[in-house]
Amino acid sequence: MEFIKQNLAEVEERICAACERAGRDRSEVTLIAVSKTKPVEMMEACMECGVVTFGENKVQELCSKYEVLPKDLHWHLIGHLQRNKVKYVTDKAELIHSVDSLRLAEAISEDAVKKGIHADILIEVNVAEEDSKFGLKTEETEDLIRQISVLPNISVKGLMTIAPYTDVPEENRTIFRTLKQLSVDIDSKNIDNVSMNVLSMGMTGDYEVAIEEGATMVRVGTGIFGERDYTKK
Ligand SMILES: *Cc1c(COP(=O)(O)O)cnc(C)c1O
Repeated sequence: MEFIKQNLAEVEERICAACERAGRDRSEVTLIAVSKTKPVEMMEACMECGVVTFGENKVQELCSKYEVLPKDLHWHLIGHLQRNKVKYVTDKAELIHSVDSLRLAEAISEDAVKKGIHADILIEVNVAEEDSKFGLKTEETEDLIRQISVLPNISVKGLMTIAPYTDVPEENRTIFRTLKQLSVDIDSKNIDNVSMNVLSMGMTGDYEVAIEEGATMVRVGTGIFGERDYTKK
């Protein structure tokens, strides 16, 4: 698993350089190692390098890995969540990045109340308005946040976006800038029980640009674990 160590070192170096360019402290950015489709052995190699924060996009995969790995890891659900699966993740995921409807937020809130826990979420915004993606339109975001803010045992902590896949990271800069601006606008409304401390944006192809534009969490899969092979399943 030497390659994971090397990949992580490179990602770390690039994160640091992007922070420096942006005049930001490295501690402002959390690296989420996106381990979807990858075996727990590779995640253990990451853990040996000090990585404790993992992102999964499927509930079932998150749960089965959660079972076998140490309990002191930080799990993030970054993929679309169906309401009937909410109950499996509320007590495992530290942050759910992909809330884009009131109905889903209500289901999370209800389950958290039932379990006597508190759920932290991000609102997924489809800034690029790509048809294939989940997420709200920019102009719908504040309204939904206001509706969620009054629900019990759930708190909005910020925003998330998935930018289009591109070989030219610069192309996504305006998308990241738009999400940052939206978070500043919403923050200025001082809505009870809502904070805009988290900005989850940037993946392998564009995380440096995202950091320059204010990302506080970057979700890096391929850059750490290598290409995913979806043909095996
Ligand atoms: C898969 C995935 C990532 C990581 O993508 P890479 O390009 O492999 O870094 C990040 N965010 C979400 C929501 C994903 O589904």
